[in-house]
Amino acid sequence: MKYYSTRDRSVKITAAEAIAMGLSREGGLFVPETVPTLTSEEIAALCALDYRERAVRIMKLFLEDYSEEELRDFANAAYSREKFDSDAVAPVVKLGEGEYILELWHGPTCAFKDMALQMLPHLLTAALKKTGEDKRVCILVATSGDTGKAALEGFRDVECAKILVFYPRDGVSEVQKLQMTSQEGGNVFVSAIEGNFDDAQTGVKEIFSSEELRKELEKKGWFLSSANSINWGRLLPQIVYYFSAYCDLINAGEIEPGEKINFSVPTGNFGDILAGYYAKKMGLPVARLICASNKNDVLTDFFRTGEYNRLRPFYETISPSMDILISSNLERLLSDLYGSGEKVSELMGSLRSDGRYEIDAETLERIGSVFSAGSLDDESAKAVIRDTFREKGYLMDTHTAVAFGVTKEYREKTGDETKTVTLSTASPFKFTPAVLKALGEPCEKPGPELIGVLSEVTGVPAPRPLADLAGRKARFTFCAKKTELTETVRNFLS
Ligand SMILES: *Cc1c(COP(=O)(O)O)cnc(C)c1O
Repeated sequence: MKYYSTRDRSVKITAAEAIAMGLSREGGLFVPETVPTLTSEEIAALCALDYRERAVRIMKLFLEDYSEEELRDFANAAYSREKFDSDAVAPVVKLGEGEYILELWHGPTCAFKDMALQMLPHLLTAALKKTGEDKRVCILVATSGDTGKAALEGFRDVECAKILVFYPRDGVSEVQKLQMTSQEGGNVFVSAIEGNFDDAQTGVKEIFSSEELRKELEKKGWFLSSANSINWGRLLPQIVYYFSAYCDLINAGEIEPGEKINFSVPTGNFGDILAGYYAKKMGLPVARLICASNKNDVLTDFFRTGEYNRLRPFYETISPSMDILISSNLERLLSDLYGSGEKVSELMGSLRSDGRYEIDAETLERIGSVFSAGSLDDESAKAVIRDTFREKGYLMDTHTAVAFGVTKEYREKTGDETKTVTLSTASPFKFTPAVLKALGEPCEKPGPELIGVLSEVTGVPAPRPLADLAGRKARFTFCAKKTELTETVRNFLS
């Protein structure tokens, strides 16, 4: 199976090439030329397998140039018991009649990014060998918090790779910051930047597009790549947990084989929910995908009106990983619906030049037959955290609360009683001040010291990697000026 660019379908490459390159030269994202399907018997067969083996079966369908043995080694290493503190890897929890939570934060950094970023380094290093690339790779990351730490853990001490993460000095939670600055590993570097996330992202994009720097690094034996969700190697591992959750519900006797269910997803860059869209296309019985946003509700408006407009106020919320106005992976959905590189290029061109684009009524209707959308502000999200803890004894983080609240509103408004799985994307202990406030508790201490407090107040144990964080020392204290990013890369690779 080949992959082509969303903006130019004549660019056709192998899976390994797509994963090694990350982004197509003309700016498009790589997508599979066909989506493989599973019969109901094949889905039933997955139910007897553990998470690792389910991952092998699903990923194999998209990665013809990787052997099954290779993928098995990768899955065993990525989702091992040392890395994940749950045998199920991504367990499903029942909260009420027809209400389920899929916990995606049992990995080493306690956010759902681990599900893909534990796998990506294996896929990428194998891709370099398969494509005959003899240079070493430097992974550059601009992060608003979770991706940076998950990428650092994934790539630490990976041979033939180095990783450099830029984060906005004042734009991440204190827990997230200490997680990154205390990172271990001989091939890692972490730098704050004076500016916000957009400055970090823009700086990194400029580095990627600098022909001069590319040539200079090439001479030294380096090439640059990305661990962002624009890379197909990050999207693919996310398809697995939709299938896995479905199988777990069958095994628990909660659903009948073939029964359609909904998934509700806290959304930022549209990567997580897009994996659900692919799962549905592959034959997983999914009724609807519910796209949940915080106050940055550009997607909610898009699904309602067909107009995507990023020219709007940007809000900093208590769910910072969803504070985003340009959802990159939406491009892959548009590519699938329009089936035309020209059309996608035109829409993305107008997003760049005018800050907006509009789709036609027929396409909007097709989207509406699969997706629903809704948004929730901070106060409502806090109420969801508080009420769910009081009524059900279940503690959730701020991002999960957005989706769970949107699910509730959706069910009340539409009367749709289809069983619904809400994806839980981070441990509540990553966002201690906001969660404690939601519970009506004082929170004067710095974030990392509140981890123990939240645990005491709720009786819920903190995940080990976060409990171990208090008292850790920062290893990296460097802060780059906005204009110093290229220099920082040079120094790191010299
Ligand atoms: C990244 C992230 C999201 C958003 O996921 P997308 O794939 O960008 O839509 C939601 N919640 C948390 C905790 C995250 O880290």
